[in-house]
Amino acid sequence: MFRQTKSALQKLQQLRFTAQQQTWRLNSSSAKERACQYRAGQKLHGFTVREVVEVPDLFLTAVKLSHDATGAQHLHAARDDSNNLFSVQFRTTPMDSTGVPHILEHTVLCGSHRFPCRDPFFKMLNRSLSTFMNAFTANDYTMYPFSTQNRKDFQNLLSIYLDAVFFPCLREQDFWQEGWRLENETPTDFNSPLVFKGVVFNEMKGAFSDNELVYAQHLQNKLYPDHTYAVVSGGEPLAIPDLTWEQLRQFHATHYHPSNARFFTYGDLPLEQHLQQIEAEALSKFQRIDPNTEVPPQPHWSSPREDHVTCTPDALAPDPARQDTLCVSYLLGDITDTFEGFTLRLLSSLMISGPNSPFYKALIEPKIGSDFSSVVGYDGSTKEASFSIGLQGMKEEDAGKVKQIISRTLDDIIEVGFEQERIEALLHRIEIQMKHQSTNFGLSLASYIASSWNHDGDPVELLQLSDSVAKFRRALEENPRFLQDKVQLYFKENTHRLTLSMSPDESYLEKQAKAEEEKLQKKISALSDADRKEIYENGLALLAAQSQTQDASCLPALKVSDIEPTMPFTPVQDGTAGGVPVQFCEQPTNGLVYFRAACSLNTLPEDLRLYVPLFCSVITKMGCGALDYRQQSQQVELRTGGMSVSPLVTPDSTQLDMYEQGVLLYSSCLERNLPHMFQLWSDIFNSPRFDDEERLRVLVMMSAQELANGIPDSGHMYAMIRAGRHLSPAGELNEAFNGMEQVKFMKKIAEMPDLNKVIRTLPTIKRHLLNPDNMRCAVNATPQKMSDASAQLESFMKDVAGNRKTRKPVRSNIIERPIDPTGASGLSRKLISELNFQPCQMKTFFQLPFPVNFVSESVRAVPFAHEDYASLGILARMMTAKFLHGEIREKGGAYGGGARMGGGLFTFYSYRDPNSVQTLSAFRRGVDWVKSGRFTQQDIDEAKLSVFSAVDSPVAPARKGLGRFLSGVTDEALQEHRERLFAVSHKSLLDAARRYLGAGQRTCGVAILGPENETIKKDPSWIVK
Ligand SMILES: [Zn+2]
Repeated sequence: MFRQTKSALQKLQQLRFTAQQQTWRLNSSSAKERACQYRAGQKLHGFTVREVVEVPDLFLTAVKLSHDATGAQHLHAARDDSNNLFSVQFRTTPMDSTGVPHILEHTVLCGSHRFPCRDPFFKMLNRSLSTFMNAFTANDYTMYPFSTQNRKDFQNLLSIYLDAVFFPCLREQDFWQEGWRLENETPTDFNSPLVFKGVVFNEMKGAFSDNELVYAQHLQNKLYPDHTYAVVSGGEPLAIPDLTWEQLRQFHATHYHPSNARFFTYGDLPLEQHLQQIEAEALSKFQRIDPNTEVPPQPHWSSPREDHVTCTPDALAPDPARQDTLCVSYLLGDITDTFEGFTLRLLSSLMISGPNSPFYKALIEPKIGSDFSSVVGYDGSTKEASFSIGLQGMKEEDAGKVKQIISRTLDDIIEVGFEQERIEALLHRIEIQMKHQSTNFGLSLASYIASSWNHDGDPVELLQLSDSVAKFRRALEENPRFLQDKVQLYFKENTHRLTLSMSPDESYLEKQAKAEEEKLQKKISALSDADRKEIYENGLALLAAQSQTQDASCLPALKVSDIEPTMPFTPVQDGTAGGVPVQFCEQPTNGLVYFRAACSLNTLPEDLRLYVPLFCSVITKMGCGALDYRQQSQQVELRTGGMSVSPLVTPDSTQLDMYEQGVLLYSSCLERNLPHMFQLWSDIFNSPRFDDEERLRVLVMMSAQELANGIPDSGHMYAMIRAGRHLSPAGELNEAFNGMEQVKFMKKIAEMPDLNKVIRTLPTIKRHLLNPDNMRCAVNATPQKMSDASAQLESFMKDVAGNRKTRKPVRSNIIERPIDPTGASGLSRKLISELNFQPCQMKTFFQLPFPVNFVSESVRAVPFAHEDYASLGILARMMTAKFLHGEIREKGGAYGGGARMGGGLFTFYSYRDPNSVQTLSAFRRGVDWVKSGRFTQQDIDEAKLSVFSAVDSPVAPARKGLGRFLSGVTDEALQEHRERLFAVSHKSLLDAARRYLGAGQRTCGVAILGPENETIKKDPSWIVK
């Protein structure tokens, strides 16, 4: 078998890759080489080149420039990557918590002098093929990045971005909409009560419902109490209503100026074109100013400080009696010292990462808390870095113990230092990170350099990682106590440290609500009758503006004809290894090998299904073969880029009531470590260790805590999954694996005093899941390495052959579906077919201690291969952009909302939403809007562009061929879908809306996560959880 595969592969190498590989190589050198031609001192479109540096580690050439007239800085990273990126960042250092930089970030995107239509930023999402568009407010800078693979699109977006940040309209109405306003609860009813509204106001209320964020914010404010880090840059909800429109405009004038700007461009497009455009459209209109935005060093304390804060109790905490957090935070050195930052980051990993680190052993394993505190380790996002260490999910009375352990552990580290092998493992991880090709490399670079560059650190030095690695090795050779000395200096002797504890307060939300009410009443009592009338009129005016059809013709746009009619196919080769079907995909992986295996769970007894996610999260972390869990973790770090197992639920692309269930094994490694990586998997298959109850308890606590913490951030996902629960068999399993059902199940497990029952089930699950009889594999590697990878896989399969056993599926209705329609390859999926499945209507409400809601409604529609799927996909995008965004975000005040098509379901959602059931009627109105047919060809084209920018988003070499492997959707099927997308018309959209979305047409499910809700409580059609 193997020989066949190998010879087939060799043939493949000769035939197939030549053409593609060559174009790739050709591109790869040209952008970099062109950039090497620049010389320091050279003048280019108003800029002067300062430095040209090749960075071979990252395959790029960096060109540093400054703008002569304004002092604006520019960094260009020329690299063989068509996913070009632009970003501009400003140093924004507020001195109060009104959220002025954050509200400004929102308002500049509401229209600019050249593009005066409302909300050009959101409109461009639908007129471009961008692969990324966003804006961020950090502690001390605001960044506007976008990326696209299309040159014309790049120029269009650059114009929009430049005009937005330098010449925004900043209309008063934009400020009220995005920031805060007083308005009648029902804007059309003068007698309805006045309330606070505004996008940022609600966004920050939502953000502060997350205890992790509350803690992190307090910690930073208190560790740096003397300047900009003492305030909340995103806005403290109750301070936001102190901001005026005038203050906002003033902040813009001083901070959004070229003299305070840093531009970053990345990719294979020529630098000169970028510079010319930036100069012509923006910089040429400015003179240099002194922005005066530097952050001074934080004065050092002569003695340590302690403080305490409160938060809302967590209804989903794994152990309700243990909800305290405590951590000690240390002020470190200036982040612009690149090597010191590198050393401290590494030191931090050595201290806290993985079961071999001293703090994991000292704090996590004794199970005093459920996990490390939400803020942990090195943080370089402030001018002077910090390091934090502590626990969450602990008892209040254990505070003393935790402080003692922290201090004792530092002493131990100073005494014994770190094992050489752990240091090597970390340096290995850095090597892998440098080689791994991600699709958003430009964006990663932009965020990686942003903080240090913001304070005038050298961004190029930061990119030269292997220089830092070499310097680090030398330092360690010269002084074996190099790291211990750092611990002595930065931790033991450091008096600028803060111990901050946080405990839940039952009346926290009530106090917050009361404070908001008082603030509101204070504002209201200051109003005259004329003011009230004005507020009412402003509310109506805003509503009218929001409801007006907008003329967006001033905005540049790509056309549907700019979209490539065909997609590039990814060549793959099917073979076998040890009787197991394998998909081989040759890719420029830069010396890494990526391995995946899909294992079916069709034979697993159904009562064990809820345990599958738990099994996945522990199977690579409990020890295996001769290795205990510490040694295993060490080997994983030393030899691989990580090993993981995750649950899989894949709805079939042709039948809504069929799906595949299983788990996905995933790992990567440097080519030289292939045998080691497969050895680790062999040990996991042949002799996993499940008997260590203490270890299992630690892992269970951490998983449960992580799930509970994730809800405030991903509440819309939970709402969507729940809404789809009773609509298809896959939806049911998805809820069990990834929904609220799983969160509650893990909480239950975490509360069990004795985990022996769980320990007994793990080997059973393992026997069913890690069975070569139920497996298929995928390997992505370079052409040169593929035959070796295949040989190694073959020998792995031999090693684990003892686990092969033919078992009977627990359900009789299994359909085997070959991935290759000709059926020649042997790669197939075993689908469960539940053709008698009865979808049912269900409305579920989860009451949670949040001030905002997550609302979702899901409609059973059609599978991917159905001819209406394309129309429904375009419909979802069009409704989002043209109706739901306006209703849910602009008028409703939610942070986000829309519709999407996926997994056979058409799903509406809202995110951090002050409304609950009202949003459901907004969804309905969205349907009415479509059914009325009042949309234009332009609306359809825009939705198409937006859908295609997702369809054509770049795929990393590690992930090529994955769709075919996992869901059996071939490139031919994707191309067919592509043609259907092009063909979508006004009529097909109307038909689809009438056929699937009309009331009573299809079964739908509804779910809301949110605070106590009187309306829902009184309505018996709801199930309240
Ligand atoms: Zn925001």
